[in-house]
Amino acid sequence: MDILCPQCQHQMTTTDSGLFCPQCQQHFTACCPDCHHPLNVLKACGAIDYFCQQGHGLISKKRLLWLPSPPANQ
Ligand SMILES: [Zn+2]
Ligand SMILES: [Zn+2]
Repeated sequence: MDILCPQCQHQMTTTDSGLFCPQCQQHFTACCPDCHHPLNVLKACGAIDYFCQQGHGLISKKRLLWLPSPPANQ
């Protein structure tokens, strides 16, 4: 995936839960562009699908909204 950081335009790396920008030291979570809720990540056969549990269904990768993740320990 070639997704650039919305903050610094650095190329981000893929993690289990989303993306990580090594430049900002910031994790990003895939969110629904319609309701801004975090998406369920469905991994199957090497493909990754993003599913909104709020009723918006599968979200195309082009429409994903990447929001900074809150710190894991909060
Ligand atoms: Zn960044
Ligand atoms: Zn949604």
